[in-house]
Order: sequence, then structure tokens, then C-alpha cells
Amino acid sequence: MLSIRARLVLGFAVLLGLLFAVAAVPLQRLEDLTARTHDIVDRQVQLAILSQRANQHAQAAAIGLLNLMQTAQREARVPQYAAMDAELAAADRAVAGLEMAMLTPALRIDLERIGDLRRRYGELFQATVELIEIEGSAPARRHFEDRTQKVLNTLLFETQALEARLQQAMQAELEQLRLAATNARRLVILLALGALTAGAFMAWAIARSIVRPVGEAVAIAGRIAGGDYQTLIPAGKHDEIGALMGSLATMRDSIASREERISRLAYVDLLTGLPNRTRFLEILGQLPAGSRGAVLMLGIDRFAPINNALGHAVGDRLLCEIAARLCLAQGGNCVLARLWGDEFAMLLEDADQAVAALHAERVLAALRAPMMVDDQRLDIDASIGIALYPRQGESNTALLRRADLAMAGAKRRHAGYLVSTGNENEPPHEELSLIGEMREALARGEFLLHYQPKLDLAQQRITAAEALVRWRHPEKGTIPPGRFIPFAEQTGFIREITPWVLARVIADAAQWRRDGIDVVASANLSAFDLLNRDLVGLVRRLLDEYTLPADRLCLEITESALMDEPELALQHLKELAALGIKLSIDDYGSGQASLAYVKTLPVHELKIDRAFVDGVDTDTRNAAIVRSTILLCRELGLTVVAEGAETPAELAWLRTNGCDLVQGYVVARPLPLEDFLPWVRDFRPASSDLECSVS
Ligand code: C2E
Ligand code: MG
Ligand code: MG
Repeated sequence: MLSIRARLVLGFAVLLGLLFAVAAVPLQRLEDLTARTHDIVDRQVQLAILSQRANQHAQAAAIGLLNLMQTAQREARVPQYAAMDAELAAADRAVAGLEMAMLTPALRIDLERIGDLRRRYGELFQATVELIEIEGSAPARRHFEDRTQKVLNTLLFETQALEARLQQAMQAELEQLRLAATNARRLVILLALGALTAGAFMAWAIARSIVRPVGEAVAIAGRIAGGDYQTLIPAGKHDEIGALMGSLATMRDSIASREERISRLAYVDLLTGLPNRTRFLEILGQLPAGSRGAVLMLGIDRFAPINNALGHAVGDRLLCEIAARLCLAQGGNCVLARLWGDEFAMLLEDADQAVAALHAERVLAALRAPMMVDDQRLDIDASIGIALYPRQGESNTALLRRADLAMAGAKRRHAGYLVSTGNENEPPHEELSLIGEMREALARGEFLLHYQPKLDLAQQRITAAEALVRWRHPEKGTIPPGRFIPFAEQTGFIREITPWVLARVIADAAQWRRDGIDVVASANLSAFDLLNRDLVGLVRRLLDEYTLPADRLCLEITESALMDEPELALQHLKELAALGIKLSIDDYGSGQASLAYVKTLPVHELKIDRAFVDGVDTDTRNAAIVRSTILLCRELGLTVVAEGAETPAELAWLRTNGCDLVQGYVVARPLPLEDFLPWVRDFRPASSDLECSVS
């Protein structure tokens, strides 16, 4: 196949050739016609002249003969002979000229007859001349009139007839020329039409051979632009179009592979090869409206310590192994994704709670089988949160969030999996705005501490007080910690609240000491704080700064705070205990921790959760739990605090059963700092009834 350039060059060359031919043929014909016309005209004119001359000279000779007959003296006739001979010779030359001219066979016969007549006339002329000389003018005149003149007349007649026939022949030839000219014109028109047709056909063929594949290439490029990378690209010929098609194929392949790489980076978790969070949310978004199913969020328990202890490379391999196990444990109708870190998500379409729970159990069982990573046996466990849909007006992220909160609940309770009820710890709408306002609130000094006294039942005096944070909101009034601390923990903002609380509590406790009041101040720590590597250093610095003896500070920790990363939490507890700080287990009984476990911790105090203290004087079950807890704590050397005692009867029961300290409304509600000191100073315990001291 010729290249486009070669085709164009060839096409234009042929077109130019046709044009040249169309121009050259008529030119040549025209020249030919002109030459032939000239030739015919010249020849005819010449022949006419010659025949006229032959007649004139023959007539002149005849006139000379008549004159001769009237000339009586012979001497006078002699010069006339020469003139007559000259005329006859001229007439002969004219006839010879006519003979020499190219004539048609018919004319040639005429000419031969004229030649014969001329010779006959010459002979009779000569005979007339001889009669003049021999017999005189009279017999000569008779001879002339009877014979010579008749032949002369015939000669003249024939010559004129020849001339007329020559004219006719010329007309015929001219007619032929006209015909030839007409034919030439037709030929030119035909040639021009042929050239035009050939040119048009060639232009069409060349254009088609270029335009069609170019159009096809444009359509292919359009399809590629539209994201169709499967589009077939014809190989094309060995020309520029073939090269263009080849480039399009290369472009399609490289765009496809680049796009695949980009979407891989955007949608795939590179470590495990599973879909990532973005992809998972996208899949959630593509669920048909009203469809039902379950989203399962899975978090590996204590993954961070494994990662820290064995290194991130092992941690990564462990995650890959976990991903492989999860893949194996999936049924057909399940999407598995890694959201981040040690968190995976599964989407079970058309699943109800029972199916989702069964799936969660299967997944957990698969993960619990020991794993070998780098020749090390690792036993891992996981917690799963399940959120069921369809949901009403709930976004995909909110659905994921519900599963996340359920997973956190499952982790806290060591329950394996938990199905979201839809209202666990999820901030109500109003609180969402509080989350956003927290940062400014801290900067604007809207947070403050209240102190709730702890009454030592043996000493009958206030020996400690717990700091409880409050938010004095400019519009919403005082907001209790239960409405913002959980979210501060979830959003990580607790990282900023706790240092502020610690600084305030230590400063206040130091001031109390200077004021001569010996009260241990307690501050609450959240799980997040306990895992914070800066915590111990911060506490040490604050104690130094305010010169507060470490044993005047108590830090309260809930059991669940110890569950996420027990090793790190324990390490921090030990470091805090080493500083001489008192440590307290808060809300004891609300979680899963046993006293056997608490015994292993470097803690000094245990606060029995309000749920057990409530109605302890009447509720035998609570009474049994609290009594045995008090006894066990005594044996373990732990101080027992009963939280939330509200009635004098509860207080009396607690005193009777050997509880060390009581913190509850029966003693005092949490008090603003400015009220706290006067209250402590004025505190006079009634021996049996403390109702009067409740503010
Ligand atoms: P908590 O540490 O167990 O604090 C005791 C909670 O019980 C306080 O609620 C207190 O007001 C309440 N309370 C005490 N006696 C009674 C009673 O007789 N009856 C009843 N119904 N309630 C009583 P508050 O102040 O609302 O604090 C709730 C929780 O918020 C605290 O529980 C603690 O976990 C958390 N919290 C408070 N302040 C802070 C803080 O500064 N940091 C951290 N991380 N958490 C804090
Ligand atoms: Mg507390
Ligand atoms: Mg408590």
C-alpha cells in the first residue's frame, strides 16, 4: 500500500498529466487544421491562378494570331511570332504547373484532357500560322474560325470548368476540415470530461482512503476518551494511517494502564490489595435505595502492642495474613475492605442480624486460629461492630460510624461482636456542634472544675476530692462532662483537655495545702491519656512546678482504659505509681475486670460503681457484691470508695460494712472551687445523719 504522501503526489501528477493532455491535444489539432487550411487555400489559389494564366495566355496567343492575319507584310509579322510563342510557352507552363499540382484522380483526367486540348490547339495554331504564311490570311482565317478557335473555346471552357471543379474540391476539403475541427472539438470535450471524471474519481478515492481511516481514528480516540479501553483498533496498512492506528493502540494501552494504576492507588489498599476506605464508601453509595444488609467493622485487639513489640514489618505481614484469613472466611456475597491500620470492613448484602452475627462469628473463629508470622506464633483476637441497613436518611459514613461505635463497644466489653442499636454514644445533632466549639471553649476559658468531696468514714473528715470538669457554655448554660468528654475522647481533643485539667487540679491542690487543708485531689484520666507517652513527664513537671507532693494527687482510671493496650497502659501506671502518685480504679464493676486482675495493677484505691451502691441497704444482691468487694480490697490493701451514695441509709450501711470512703450526693454534690474550701472548712459530720451537709 502506498503512503498517503505517495498517493497524493501520484494523484496530483495524474491530474496534471490529464490537464496537459486536455490542453495539448486541441492545440496540436488546431495547429494541424490551420496548416491544412492554409495549404488548401494556397494550393487552390495557385491552381486558379495557373488555370487563369493558361486561359489568358492561350487567348493572348489567339488574339496575336488574329492580329497576324491582319498584318499583310511578312516583315511586320515576324516580331509578332516571338510574342505569340512567348504566350503559348506561358500557357504551357501554366498547364505544366497544373499538372505538377497534387490533384485528385478525377481532376487529373480533366487536366489530361486540357493538356490534350492544349496540344491540339498548339497544332491547329501552328497550322493556322503556316496557312497565313503559305496561303494567305483568308484560308488561314477560315482554318482559324473552323478549327483553331473551336478548340481554343473548348480549351477555355474546360479550363474554366476545371477551375470550377477545383473550387468544388477546395470546398469539399474545407468541409472535411470543418468536420475534422468539429471532431477535434468533440475530442477535446470528451477529453476534458474524461479528465474531470478521472480527476474527481481520483480525488474521491484518495480522500476516501485518507478521510475514512482518519474518521475511524477520531471515533476510536473519542471512545478512548470516554473510558472504553477495550475498543478494537484495526491494524491499518503500512502507511501513515497504519502508524496513526499503532499510536492510538499504544495511547489506549498506556492510558488504560495509567488509569488502572491511578485507580489502584486511589481505591486499593496497597499493603493487602483489598479495597480501601474510599472504595468501600463508594460501594456503599452504590447500594440500591431501600436495599438491606449489614456493615461489619472489624478491629484487631491489641494490635498496637504487637506492632510496637515486633516491629512494623512484622505488623505489616500480620495484617496481610489477617487479610488473607478474612478473604477465606468471606462468603460469596461479601465485600471486604481495609479501612486503615488494623481496621477492616465487610459489607453483607441481603443479610439480616442473624446472618451478620453468624458471619461475624465465623470471621472471629478464623482469626483466632494461631498465626505464624516470621516463625513466630501469634494469637490474635478481634472485635466486630455490626450496623444493619436500610437506614433512614443516614449517610454512608454515618453507617460506618455506627459499626465503628459498635465495634468499640464490643472491644470494651470483650464481647467479640456487637450489633449497633443506633444510639450508642453517637453524638446527637446538637452535640455535633459542641464538638466543633470545644477548641475555642478551652481557649476562651469556658471549662471549669467542680470538686466533689470524698468522706473518710473512719476519720469522719474530708480527705479527698474528685475534680469533675464542667463547660460553662455562653448559650447552653453548664454542660455536664457526659455530654462532651466521650466525644473529646473520640476526636482526640481530650489530649488538650487533660493537661488543662491536670494543671488546674495540681494547682488547686497545692493552694489547698498552702491554705492548710489536707485533701488529696483526684483527676480523671481517659484511655487515650493513659496511652499518651507524654503523660508521665507532664505530671512530673506539673508536680514540680506547683511543688505538690505526689501523694496529694490521685488519678482515676476506668478498667476499660486498660483494655486497649494493656502493656503500655500498665507501663505508664507503674511509672506514675513510681512517682508516688495515688492511682484509683474508677467505676469498678461496670466492666469485665476482676479483682484478681486489679490486684496485678499498681493501684491504691478502688471506686465501686454507683450501680452497686444504689440501694445497697435494701438490695441484697448489691449488698453482697459491695460487701465482698470491700472485704477483698481490705485483704489486697486497697482503699475502697463507694461512689454515688445518695441516702443516709446507704451511707450507714457502708459505714457498718467497713467501706473506707464515700463519694456521693449524701456527702456533697460536686462544688465550684470557690465553694469547695469554705464547705470543707465548715464540714461537721453528724454522727448518724449527714443529710444537712448535702448542698
Ligand atoms: P466519674 O469519674 O465516675 O465521676 C463521678 C460522677 O458521678 C460525676 O458525674 C458525679 O457528679 C456523679 N455523682 C457523684 N455522686 C453522685 C450521686 O450521689 N448520685 C448521682 N446520680 N451521681 C453522682 P459527672 O460530673 O457528670 O461526671 C461524669 C463522668 O465524666 C465522670 O465519671 C468521669 O468519667 C467523666 N469526667 C468528669 N470530669 C472529667 C475529666 O476532667 N476528665 C475525664 N477524662 N473525665 C471526666
Ligand atoms: Mg472519677
Ligand atoms: Mg466513677
